[in-house]
Amino acid sequence: MLMFKFFFLLFSFLFSFNSYSYWQQRVEYKISIDFDHKNHQFLGEQNLKYFNNSKDTINKVYFHLYFNAFQPGSMMDVRSRSLPDPDRRVMDRISKLSKNEIGFHQIKKIEQDGKSLIHHTQGTVLEVELAYPLMPNQSTDFYLEYLSQVPVQIRRSGRNSKEGIDYSMAQWFPKIAEYDENGWHANPYIAREFYAPWGDFDVSISINKDYIVAATGILESKKKVNNKNIWNFKAKDVHDFVWAADPDYVHDILKVDSENLELHFYYQKTNDEMVSNWKRLQDDTADAFRYINKKFGKYPYTKYSVIQGGDGGMEYPMATLITGERSYPSLLSVTVHEVLHSWYQMLLGTNESYLAWMDEGFTSFAQNITFNNEFNDIYKLDSKNPLEGSYNRYYNFIKTGLEEPLSTHSDHFSTNQAYGVGSYTKGAIFLMQLGYIIGEEKLYSGLRRYYNEWKFKHPDEYDFLRIMEKESDIELDWYMDYWVKTTHQIDYSLEVFEKDKSTVSININRIGKMPMPIEVQVIYDDLKSENYYIPLSIMRGEKYNSNDNIILLKDWEWVNESYQIDLDIEEKKINKIILDPSGKMADVDKSNNTIEFE
Ligand SMILES: [Zn+2]
Repeated sequence: MLMFKFFFLLFSFLFSFNSYSYWQQRVEYKISIDFDHKNHQFLGEQNLKYFNNSKDTINKVYFHLYFNAFQPGSMMDVRSRSLPDPDRRVMDRISKLSKNEIGFHQIKKIEQDGKSLIHHTQGTVLEVELAYPLMPNQSTDFYLEYLSQVPVQIRRSGRNSKEGIDYSMAQWFPKIAEYDENGWHANPYIAREFYAPWGDFDVSISINKDYIVAATGILESKKKVNNKNIWNFKAKDVHDFVWAADPDYVHDILKVDSENLELHFYYQKTNDEMVSNWKRLQDDTADAFRYINKKFGKYPYTKYSVIQGGDGGMEYPMATLITGERSYPSLLSVTVHEVLHSWYQMLLGTNESYLAWMDEGFTSFAQNITFNNEFNDIYKLDSKNPLEGSYNRYYNFIKTGLEEPLSTHSDHFSTNQAYGVGSYTKGAIFLMQLGYIIGEEKLYSGLRRYYNEWKFKHPDEYDFLRIMEKESDIELDWYMDYWVKTTHQIDYSLEVFEKDKSTVSININRIGKMPMPIEVQVIYDDLKSENYYIPLSIMRGEKYNSNDNIILLKDWEWVNESYQIDLDIEEKKINKIILDPSGKMADVDKSNNTIEFE
């Protein structure tokens, strides 16, 4: 009986543990394409082993058919023509594409374990009914044949970019949608953001022998067959695969032994300046990797490619496509930004549709930190707050009244501007301000812990928050609630009155709805200063301060609209009182944050 009880307890423990444990789907792609560069079309044969690691039985699957977005009347086209501030690269260009300029994927065949399947293409989504239900912890094999046409370069993917790159091949194959604890994410391709299962890719590209091919993964072989080369690339543990091809690519390789990394650069020799910029970029990219590896966690792959292509800059696993004809600061800036996406999205694979602020915002934050530490001779950021520019952008933007909560689905923001400022700017401030709340040391140790625990997975905002809470021993749900889920603002003001000869009272008033821990600096006439720190009671703790020059005051209970500090000044004379001396709290009205004494 006792034995029985023991096993029963063990079983229920394992069961309850399992029911809360993290899982993710897994894919293994083997894709062969035969590319016809005269017609800009290719035939694809695609094997996909799909592992259902969920607890659910799956009866339907969905694939993204991104090229179908580049057709007049597509959702992407309609959305671009109806937004008040469309992306300049798109505008009404899709509506004007002719038959041989559009993109498409035509599915010729789809099978599951040899059985042909009923399927239906709805714009950029292929809906497929399974022949057999896919049970939990089982895998199944899909086989697809398709004919695809590469669209004229409009956005990210396409042929004949304005810089003359023949093929920028992003979002180019039928890609199975992600299924997670929130179900399917078969979002139509309207503007942006990607989310897909983790797995391995084995991709063979047969293309005219004059082309040089750059891609995600490692080049395993290159075989000549008649007038074509077959390029075979393999990539392990990634959630996308990009490639690009051009006959005029220069291909430079820089080995960075200290980081166990090979950097590859593909660009055209358009002019001397272009060549010198792309040569100079190579050592700087290596320096960026060295710094980022130390600061944000070690890059796990052995290769990264910076590829001229596309229409701006876009991140992919182990590679980026960027436009190349730029000034040097702009070229380095876009490269560092896209490299950092290897951390925020390519390895910490958040669902960008809902959490664009966690990839664009975190990337923008880390980019500024990297600039400030490695390249400040070029970017000249304010070292006290390298994100000052982001704070100012946010302050200016909220005056337009167009702000929407960060938690908005990225395709559903009413303006591109609201998406841009929300995800890049407010997302970057999210981290800087988190450093203000929990202390800078805990911010960086927490970011590394987040990376080490969640790389190769799909963390969400609460996974991140839990890590930061554990790291700092501070409760942070209120911060997420206000900063991400509302557009409430931070605004505090200072008031001072003399109580008597030796006591001065400082009143701090909360004007904005969002509560924050408060720091106040009092500077005396002899220029000595005191730093006061008021945590919020809902933090259930206070930040870690490595400098103990800080005077900790009692908690502020957020329901109170003001807080009083009585200063015993004795004979001293106050010169100045400053609310938020670090400038890292995004107080929208700074005019009432400083009081100077005569
Ligand atoms: Zn980005």
